[in-house]
Amino acid sequence: MRENKWKNILLDHKKGFRLLKMVHQEDSTVLPGYLFDICLRLGEIYGNLFLSALLIDALLERRFTHAFVWAGSMIGLGFALRTGRLMMRSWFSKVSTKLWLIFYVWLRQKGLSLDYETMEQAETAERITFLEQTADMYGSLGVVLYWYREMLLSILSILASVALVFSLCFKAPSTKTGVFRFFSSPGVSFVMFGCVLAGMFVFSLQTTDYFTRKRKRYFDDHARMEQKLGYLREQVFMNYKAGKVVRVFNMQEMLQKNVAKETDKVRDYYTGMHCTGCAERMGNLSVSSVFTLFSYLFVVCKAATGAVTIGAFTKYVGALNQFGSACASLIEGNVKIREICTYMTDFLTFLDTPDRHATGSIPVEKRTDGEYEIAFEHVSFCYPGSSEPVLSDVNCKIDMKHKLALVGQNGAGKTTFIKLLCRLYEPTKGRITLNGVDIRKYDEEQYRSLFGVVFQDFKLFAFPVWENVAAGAARDEGKLQKSLRQAGAEELVRGMPAGLDTLLYKNMGDGLEISGGEAQKLALARALYKDAPIVILDEPTAALDPIAESEVYERFDRMVEGKTSVYISHRMSSCRFCDDIIVFEKGQIAERGSHEALLAREGLYARMWRAQAKYYT
Ligand code: ADP
Repeated sequence: MRENKWKNILLDHKKGFRLLKMVHQEDSTVLPGYLFDICLRLGEIYGNLFLSALLIDALLERRFTHAFVWAGSMIGLGFALRTGRLMMRSWFSKVSTKLWLIFYVWLRQKGLSLDYETMEQAETAERITFLEQTADMYGSLGVVLYWYREMLLSILSILASVALVFSLCFKAPSTKTGVFRFFSSPGVSFVMFGCVLAGMFVFSLQTTDYFTRKRKRYFDDHARMEQKLGYLREQVFMNYKAGKVVRVFNMQEMLQKNVAKETDKVRDYYTGMHCTGCAERMGNLSVSSVFTLFSYLFVVCKAATGAVTIGAFTKYVGALNQFGSACASLIEGNVKIREICTYMTDFLTFLDTPDRHATGSIPVEKRTDGEYEIAFEHVSFCYPGSSEPVLSDVNCKIDMKHKLALVGQNGAGKTTFIKLLCRLYEPTKGRITLNGVDIRKYDEEQYRSLFGVVFQDFKLFAFPVWENVAAGAARDEGKLQKSLRQAGAEELVRGMPAGLDTLLYKNMGDGLEISGGEAQKLALARALYKDAPIVILDEPTAALDPIAESEVYERFDRMVEGKTSVYISHRMSSCRFCDDIIVFEKGQIAERGSHEALLAREGLYARMWRAQAKYYT
């Protein structure tokens, strides 16, 4: 049991040290800065104690020149150290903001670098939100550094005080008799001091463990509580769609009751947490009070028996007082660090999330003629957590410089086919090859550079138009205009208040709200700006009105001129523009051929075509 306690303490601090190391790698001035501050604080405490002891003794012995020197040194040292600490304070405020931000940056960097498969899972987003919420509530790296600084300061204070107390224990009384003389003798002094130290140690260990467990329980409950409150806040009250249901069904009273119930739980939770904190502080205070009382009696004994001078008496009382408060601070620091480590464990585990996908390193050959050969070989795929195959034994070659259409009923597996092609997922069975080599063996970034994609659920960001279109690439006015023109968004952007520099949406400022169709055009321009040899359009006209849709079809030829294009559409009429059509049915390739050939075949394609043709003929 005891062994486990120590093991747990060591494991928690191992995580704490890892965080310190990460901070040091990010900014090598932070840890030396904290160490420097510790030196200043130790200098202030012990410099004062030693110099005041020397000053008192010099005054009592009427050595005024010495007294003058000690007093001057005290003032000079005090001034220098206090100035140093003031300067450090402004540095700390900058550093703590930086540390606060670094935590979020690390979290997001990891989020962005995760493979899509992991990122797409709902629990990944929940995990990131949870980590952010806990860091907001309990503090993050700044708190870790703060408490390690306090702990190190306490340890050094304890060592300095113990060294002094040891030297005090050795001081023999000059009086010959009396009960004070007995307690003041070196042997008894050592035993007493040892007993008090051991008592404090055992008591602290017990309380630390007890409160760490209690805090952990509060911490675990916190996530559940916040989740419920978050749901009520975001999905019930802030969700205007829910607002309609609430009014139509008169659900206000029922919702109020639910909220009141949750609010009561929140109040009880925070009261309980606050009381635990108070009980913990009381425990620490009682430990340090016992020690302070002991230390006073101990030094009084030594002074009364003539073992130490009056000057030394003040020095020892001060040092012992430091010892008491340093012990309390060390215990508190240890509890705090372990508490932070409970949720930092989740953070570190998240940072350590391995990439599920194999990442190859073969560079992708840069071809100016865009002639690549891509093939699906017996590819089957099940989404994570499901054993139901979404694609089964898919075999096909994608002909370069051709316009390929993927058609099929909803859920037939067309988008999944594209996701596998773009290496967002890996086949469960079989392989996809580029120029005969498994795509997993290629450098991921280089492989993806082959594709310009507009997904059905494309996303634009609340950034200026040009940044959305260039998508991280350098700004090139000519290329921007060309891709906007090809996507039919030239007029749209020209009409915007600041043209290409117009901010989109309201999330990051007073940006421009655009319609779904307009957004889709910009997403199309983004795919074209990349100038990738293969352009993939997943339902590119879904959000467009019929006029805009026919415009896209008309421009389609020019848009993908000289490129390979893969085109998913529910509108069969769009397939006429493609050279080659793959018909998906229940995750398998049911038919393949040109529009005319498939019509002549009188299969699934012909049935789908006729079913829709009646609406537009
Ligand atoms: P299509 O593009 O032909 O409409 P999809 O490839 O989008 O079809 O979907 C094929 C099947 O895979 C559907 O049954 C769909 O519900 C399922 N599916 C799609 N995305 C996911 C996902 N992220 N997780 C689990 N199942 C999914």
